[in-house]
Amino acid sequence: MSDCPYCGWPDDEPVRNLSEHPTGDGVLFWTRCACGSVQARVLTGGTVRIVTRGKPAGPRTAAPRTGTRVDC
Ligand SMILES: [Zn+2]
Repeated sequence: MSDCPYCGWPDDEPVRNLSEHPTGDGVLFWTRCACGSVQARVLTGGTVRIVTRGKPAGPRTAAPRTGTRVDC
């Protein structure tokens, strides 16, 4: 499987499971990587597919100028 493009963490070892939601197509998982990147992955028939991946929230990323802040 692939690795996180931000920190290189293996995608098959999610650091933290945030939530899971059964859907008609499978189970949708939200996970958070070691770098803070949030991922949505869908488990269908024993295969996990990452459908979307957020950017890590951290001081090293370019800070938005609008004052948007992510507290966690
Ligand atoms: Zn990462």
